[in-house]
Amino acid sequence: MQITGIRAHHIRIPVDAGRAATRFPQDILVLEVSTDAGLTGWGDAFSYVCTRTTAAAIEEMIAPQALGQTVPEASAIPAFMEQVQRNLHLFGRYGVTMFAISALDIALWDLAAKAEGVPLHRLLGGGKRDRIPAYASLLRIGKPDDVAYEAARAQGLGFGAIKLHEITTPAVFAARKAVGTGVPLMVDMNCPLDGPTAIDFAQACREAQPMFLEEPVWPPEDFATLAEVRTKGGLDIAAGENACTVHQFRQMMLAKAVSHAQPSVIKVGGITEFLKVAAEADRLGVKLIPHSPYFGPGFLATLQLMSGRDEGYIELFFMQRAACLWRNRIDADANGDIEVPQGHGLGYEPDLAVMEQYRVS
Ligand SMILES: [Mg+2]
Repeated sequence: MQITGIRAHHIRIPVDAGRAATRFPQDILVLEVSTDAGLTGWGDAFSYVCTRTTAAAIEEMIAPQALGQTVPEASAIPAFMEQVQRNLHLFGRYGVTMFAISALDIALWDLAAKAEGVPLHRLLGGGKRDRIPAYASLLRIGKPDDVAYEAARAQGLGFGAIKLHEITTPAVFAARKAVGTGVPLMVDMNCPLDGPTAIDFAQACREAQPMFLEEPVWPPEDFATLAEVRTKGGLDIAAGENACTVHQFRQMMLAKAVSHAQPSVIKVGGITEFLKVAAEADRLGVKLIPHSPYFGPGFLATLQLMSGRDEGYIELFFMQRAACLWRNRIDADANGDIEVPQGHGLGYEPDLAVMEQYRVS
């Protein structure tokens, strides 16, 4: 089976995020890999606001690596993808290059599982769970009253765990008061603080008992400072969505910077690299809680990957979408759980009518 086509689709589906103050396009880059056997593999590159740039990376960097190549079997994907990484390492080991590489990797795994006629989790030796608990990942809201309102709304819809993207202690305490004790509450800061300020913030939040503080420190690759915040702040720390491949994850974990590692399948290098990170996290006794605030094929890939793990949440952005590529099958149920797709490959095929309707040309 040979790769005969590489096409990046730019999709923009409007969302309603309630009282969230942060508004930014969450565009999706869907990668379509066609083959001479008639099978199609679907991939996904992180892009949000840089979808055109990432599409150009697919066209200029990924297509020449893939077109005309034989589709590797599952066991050969890691070697195939390592060669792609070697060929492209001059263009950056993180960022748009790795996002585009991630898309190809996911599409190759989708094809490999389809060729075997099994859902991806089966190919990966998983299938331990057929439903994955989701945590509601709220956008940044700001005003404590509104944070409390949205957190309570998420809880009311069945979510058993909630993550805030807030950077003030009143917002954190408002959410805790709204959802009560006992509900896992996470606080994602997106890298704003220096070390001493982050330590103060962590200590000030301790009574609200966050499950972890995520990315409190700027810059994200300063693992020594992150480790210090973890020790002196007295809270568990999560990070990893901005880490490059298993090698940087290993450095981060060996520095004892994190209690929770957060690989993002559409950023880190795809399924191949995610699996390596998961194995390394297990070896080093670090918990795994993936980054997945997106709705394209990468979300399905994350469900397939988490199906192979005994425990752990999946991140689901808390917002209403005008449409869903997967015919609304990745919404959480009344218990806050999401079903692991059982179809071949990633498990669902995209709704081509939705892709056409929301295509950005
Ligand atoms: Mg985050």
